[in-house]
Amino acid sequence: MSTSEDLHYDVLVIGAGGAGLRAAIEASAGGVRVGLICKSLLGKAHTVMAEGGVAAALANVDDRDSWKVHFADTMRGGQYVNNWRMAELHAKEAPDRVRELEAWGAVFDRTPDGRILQRNFGGHRYPRLAHVGDRTGLELIRTLQDHGVHRGIDVHMEFTIVSLLTSGGRAAGVVGYERDRGRFKVFSAAAVVLATGGTGRAYKITSNSWEGTGDGHALAYQAGAELVDMEFIQFHPTGMIWPPSVQGILVTEGVRGEGGILLNKEGRRFMFDDIPDAYKNQTATDEEEGWRYTQGDKNAKRPPELLTRDHVARCIMREVKAGRGSPHGGVFLDIAWIKKKLSHAEEHIKRKLPSMYHQFKELGDIDITKEPMEVGPTTHYIMGGIRVDADSQMSSIPGLFAAGECAAGINGANRLGGNSLSDLLVFGKRAGEYAARFARENRGVAVDAAQVRQATDAALKPFDHGQAGENPYAIQSALQEMMQSLVGIVRTDDEMQQALTELGSLKARAANAGIQGHREYNPGWHTSIDLRNLLTVSEAITRSAIERKESRGGHFREDYPDKNPEYATFNIVTRKGAGGEMEIRRVAIPPLPPELKQVIEEQKS
Ligand SMILES: Cc1cc2nc3c(=O)[nH]c(=O)nc-3n(C[C@H](O)[C@H](O)[C@H](O)COP(=O)(O)OP(=O)(O)OC[C@H]3O[C@@H](n4cnc5c(N)ncnc54)[C@H](O)[C@@H]3O)c2cc1C
Repeated sequence: MSTSEDLHYDVLVIGAGGAGLRAAIEASAGGVRVGLICKSLLGKAHTVMAEGGVAAALANVDDRDSWKVHFADTMRGGQYVNNWRMAELHAKEAPDRVRELEAWGAVFDRTPDGRILQRNFGGHRYPRLAHVGDRTGLELIRTLQDHGVHRGIDVHMEFTIVSLLTSGGRAAGVVGYERDRGRFKVFSAAAVVLATGGTGRAYKITSNSWEGTGDGHALAYQAGAELVDMEFIQFHPTGMIWPPSVQGILVTEGVRGEGGILLNKEGRRFMFDDIPDAYKNQTATDEEEGWRYTQGDKNAKRPPELLTRDHVARCIMREVKAGRGSPHGGVFLDIAWIKKKLSHAEEHIKRKLPSMYHQFKELGDIDITKEPMEVGPTTHYIMGGIRVDADSQMSSIPGLFAAGECAAGINGANRLGGNSLSDLLVFGKRAGEYAARFARENRGVAVDAAQVRQATDAALKPFDHGQAGENPYAIQSALQEMMQSLVGIVRTDDEMQQALTELGSLKARAANAGIQGHREYNPGWHTSIDLRNLLTVSEAITRSAIERKESRGGHFREDYPDKNPEYATFNIVTRKGAGGEMEIRRVAIPPLPPELKQVIEEQKS
C-alpha cells in the first residue's frame, strides 16, 4: 500500500472556490465533521478571479426586478434546455444568499441610500449584479473563508485528488497526494461534495486559471456518475488578445455594463446589425437609448453589447472573418468614449473598473480611459457538468454531490454573467446541507484497498516510463491546440470526427507519458494527472457536440446553423459504459409546470 495516512470525515468537500467553501460551511452547520481539500492555497481558487458581480434579484436599483424576471432571463439565456427547477431555486434563493454574505462581512458597493448596488450585465433585464468594483470574487472568497475558519473545518491545501472511491455503489471517499511532498493519503467519508470548477484548460485560449482541468467532471465520470450537456461551452466575447502572452485573460462584461461599446476597424458599432428575435423588444433602438440604459434610465432598453455572450462572441467572429477586425484578430472595446458624456469619465472608469484599468496598463501598456482595448472570444465557462438532482445536488451515485461550475443544469445552453457566483452560493449551500443529512443517515463506509492500490498505481505510472516516455506538457499543448481548432466556437461534423480520431491518438500518447525525478515538487507529474482529466472531458465535449445537430447557445454548428425545436426537448447525457467506452444518450427534459410556463410567458413582452 503506497498510502501513508488515512483520514475520516463525515462530509468531504473537494474544492475551495465559492461552491466548496459555501458547501463546507453549510455541512459543518449540519453538525458533522467536515474536511475541505484544494489543489492550490486556500484563497487562491479560481473564484477569486471573478470580476463583474453576483446576480440576485434584490431589486435595489430597479424595483421592477423579481425572482420571476431573473428566472425568465436565465431560461431565455439558456435557450430553454436548462434544468428549470434549478433555475427556479436559483432565482428565488440568490437574494437571501447575497444578503447572508453581506451579514457575514462582504462589503459591496453601495447605492446612495446605503443598499447593495447592482449593475447591468448581458441578458439580465434589470441591473442585477451585486458587486465590489470589478473584484467581486475576491470579496466573496474572503468573506466565506473568514466565516468558514471559525467553524472548525479541516483544510488540506495543495492536495490533488486523483480518484473517487465507492463502496456498494455509493461514495466512500477519495485518494490524493500532497503536491509538495508527493505523499498519498486516503480519505474515507460518508458523503463527498465535488466543487472542482471548470474545464477551460482543455482549450488553448482561455480565461480560466491553471486549476480548470475538469478534475471533478472526470473523477465523477470515472466513478460511474453521469455528465450532462457537455457540448455547451461558453466562449466569452471579450478576452485580451494582445500581447500574445496575455491572450485569453478576461475583460469583464462590466466594461460594457458601464457603457463600453464594440467597434470594428472601420469604427462601426456593429452590434446593432444583428439583434435576435427573442431580444428585439428588449434591445435599444439607437445608441442614445443604449447609453441611457447604462446610466440607469428605467425607460430605456439595453444596448446590443449587453445581449447574451454566445451572440456577442459570434458577432465578433463575423466581423473578424469579414476582414473588419482589429490588427491582432479581434475587435475594439471602447469605454474611453464616455468622456463625451461624463465630465469625470476618467476618474469614473478607474473607480468602477479598477482591475481592468491596471490589467491593460500593466499587461498591454494601454490606458483604457483614453484608448480602446483590443478584444476577442476566450474559453470561459462550461455549462455542462455533473448531472445532479436539482434540490439536493446529489449525483447519480448515492453520497456523491456536486456544486458550482462542475455541476450542471441551471444554465442550459448559455450562462448569463453573474449567474455563476449566485449558483455557487445557492447550490453550494444546498449541497452542503444535503451531504450532511446524507452523512448523518448513512454513516460507516468501508474503503476498498484494491481501489486505492489501483488509483495510486495509475497515478505513478508516468514515473515507470521515465525519460523514455513522452513529455506530458507536449501532449497537453497538442490537446489544447486541437480542441481550439476542431471543437471551438464554430463546429462541424467533419472537424469533430477528426477531433475524435486525434483524441484517440492523444490518449495513446498520454498512456505513455513519462516523467523524471521524484514525487516532491514535480510539476511534470501534476501535468500528467491533469492530462488524464482533460482528455476525458474533451472526449465528452466532442461526443456531445457531435450528437447535438443544431445550433443553440454556446454550441454553434456551421453544418446545422439553426435551432431545431426537437433538440429543445432533451439533454445529452454522457456516462461510462460497461466496457469502459463513453456512452451518449438523450434524456427527455421534464415538462415545465404551468406556473413556471406562465412566468416565462408574462416576461416575454
Ligand atoms: C476571469 C473570470 C471572471 C469571472 N467573473 C465572474 C463574475 O463576475 N460573475 C460570475 O458569476 N462568474 C464569473 N466567472 C465565473 C466564475 O468565477 C466561476 O464559474 C466560479 O468561480 C467557479 O467556482 P467554483 O467554486 O465552482 O470552482 P473554483 O473557484 O474554480 O474552485 C475549484 C476548486 O477546486 C479545487 N480542485 C480542482 N481540482 C481538484 C482536485 N483534483 N483535487 C483537489 N482540489 C481540486 C481547486 O483547487 C479549487 O479550490 C468568472 C470567471 C473568470 C475566469
